[in-house]
Amino acid sequence: MKKIDAHVHIKQNGPEFLDQAKADNFFVIPIIVDHNNVPWYKNFLQSQRQHHPEQFSYVTTFHIDGWDEPGWQEKTLEHIKSEFENGAIGVKVWKNIGMEFRDKDSNFVMIDDPKFDPIFDFIEYQNKTLSGHIGEPRDCWLPLEEMLASSNKRYYSSHPKYHMYKHPEYPSYEDQINSYARMLEKHPNLRYVGCHLASIEWSMKKLAKMLDRFPNMAVDLAARLDDIQIQDTDEVRDFFGKYQNRVLYGTDLEIEEHDNPKDFAKRMHEKWQTDWTYFSTDSAITIKGIDKPVIGLNLPQKILKKIYWENARKWYRCF
Ligand SMILES: [Zn+2]
Repeated sequence: MKKIDAHVHIKQNGPEFLDQAKADNFFVIPIIVDHNNVPWYKNFLQSQRQHHPEQFSYVTTFHIDGWDEPGWQEKTLEHIKSEFENGAIGVKVWKNIGMEFRDKDSNFVMIDDPKFDPIFDFIEYQNKTLSGHIGEPRDCWLPLEEMLASSNKRYYSSHPKYHMYKHPEYPSYEDQINSYARMLEKHPNLRYVGCHLASIEWSMKKLAKMLDRFPNMAVDLAARLDDIQIQDTDEVRDFFGKYQNRVLYGTDLEIEEHDNPKDFAKRMHEKWQTDWTYFSTDSAITIKGIDKPVIGLNLPQKILKKIYWENARKWYRCF
């Protein structure tokens, strides 16, 4: 089966990553994130277009720096326009909106800020997709001992700066979810992919409600598989049945400039294989950080084909 990993971050110019993707019959969507790092990805695109032009499509971003300066909107629109001309299939907004960036009056800028509206209108008008990593897992707002996923416990104990439980002066979990819901209310015809299960990874029921509310929204699974693997298998399987047109497979695999490309390609191959076993069989698999074995979902071929191939093509209009 041809497959798409709809959420990766590649910061290397060598061919190894996409060589491996090709060997595994994977197409990939590298996503550029607003870290003020435009130069490396320009190089990356150039080099990868020489190696494997057919194996990837990319999602671009824009910088929030300069928000308070006059002309920020025009500049941003121009940048996005030229990125679409360059082949970008969508635009990513990241958690720095809502969780990090503050305007000149020291207020957090949220994703439903009216200043974003012309930008989102433009994306819609161009028939492109907005992908949003807004907020974090709900665990981020809980004390370590109450977190559901051990991967979150590990991450936030080593990144206290991002552990929102320790920063009550920051917007709450509900503030984050409500902000993108209000944004979607204003843009009902905008295609939106909520990355990381739209930060509602902890409850399939709540996520279902959000998807029911916004028919132009889909979600990707990037870096949140272990959040759903600890939930009731039948409930998760039902979710995939009911929302089979709305979920995109994605990993969030990140390949840094200093990573050994051969080692990374191996890790990537293994991750893709383990995930495939989880979705396509009912085998018991061992997942790092989860005490008991996880039982695979054994999804029918028709649904597998959607979450691994058709949905990314449909929601991002690519490949
Ligand atoms: Zn990511």
